[in-house]
Amino acid sequence: MLDKATLVKLLAQPQKIVITTHHKPDGDAMGSSLGLYNYLIQLGHHTKVVTPTDYPQYLEWMPGNGEVIVYTENTEMAQRSIAEAKIIFCVDFNALSRINEVGALIEKSDAVKILIDHHLEPEDFDDYRYWNINACATAQLIYTFIVEEINHKELINKDVAACLYAGIMTDSASFSLPNTTSAVHRIAADLIDAGAVNWHIYDQVYNNSSENRLRFLGICLSQHLEILEEFNTAIITASKQDLQRYGIMTGETEGIVNYALSVTGMRLAAFIVERADRVKLSLRSKGEFPANEICKKYFSGGGHRNAAGGYSMDSLKQVVNQFKLILPDYKNLLTQ
Ligand code: 5GP
Ligand code: MN
Repeated sequence: MLDKATLVKLLAQPQKIVITTHHKPDGDAMGSSLGLYNYLIQLGHHTKVVTPTDYPQYLEWMPGNGEVIVYTENTEMAQRSIAEAKIIFCVDFNALSRINEVGALIEKSDAVKILIDHHLEPEDFDDYRYWNINACATAQLIYTFIVEEINHKELINKDVAACLYAGIMTDSASFSLPNTTSAVHRIAADLIDAGAVNWHIYDQVYNNSSENRLRFLGICLSQHLEILEEFNTAIITASKQDLQRYGIMTGETEGIVNYALSVTGMRLAAFIVERADRVKLSLRSKGEFPANEICKKYFSGGGHRNAAGGYSMDSLKQVVNQFKLILPDYKNLLTQ
């Protein structure tokens, strides 16, 4: 492990740096990566952001987006950047399996690896760890890393601020989750003072649906929502045919699970979707209910207590049945 003084010294000289984040990056993954990118370029670092896969169009407005290298689309350039990097920032993920093929490249690289993350139980692949599971978003940690760890508050410019604000806004479900503390609101206020235009960021992220996405959402809610009263649990399923019919792209299913959790009295909600190669589950819960425990135990996944995900290679029908069969074990927690 590296100590803080060595890290600060290392970052004081221009370096070749790669920032990477989890596959199918969400608002926090891209906001954290590009927030950090816009900070590091001010120090003269030669910085690249490498994402394992593409990401939704409603995140493409972020400053620096044009410089992002998507591994699956530009593999050689991504490989070269990682091979040349002296420092690799790993943001918003805790396990190399979350970054697909990029994981093996990171593992074999001699670069100094800096983990900035808020997920439980990170794997041991880093040289420096800036990690706090109480943070509502990794973007919150990027902010405190820049401001408190490196003492560079003056470098939170409007580009850094816009990206970090988007990360915090999306991962805190628009400032609605219990980990949205007063400290988070103070950081958000600082970011607005630094130039983040909060209402415009909200508009670009949330009021940016394709017509097809809205129609797909309509089908999910009217035809594929199942309420299991006995377990205060709501499930929405979506088949491969539904996705194809509406041409649903990466990230366009984001947030659908929250509609299920919004039904009065629900403690747990699941969005179970049949993707090309696997069935993906997104779970959301209220209060103490450990959605991540179900994902870890039964669906090769993990995440946070109130927002977790996983997958299965079984059929959609089998996965839905398996999920329902798990619920009796949690009946007390779901109904007390
Ligand atoms: P989502 O439901 O939005 O895909 O994921 C919610 C959270 O669960 C993510 O922020 C991530 O922390 C976690 N998560 C989702 N899918 C997986 C997975 O396959 N493995 C692990 N370990 N965590 C996941
Ligand atoms: Mn996050």
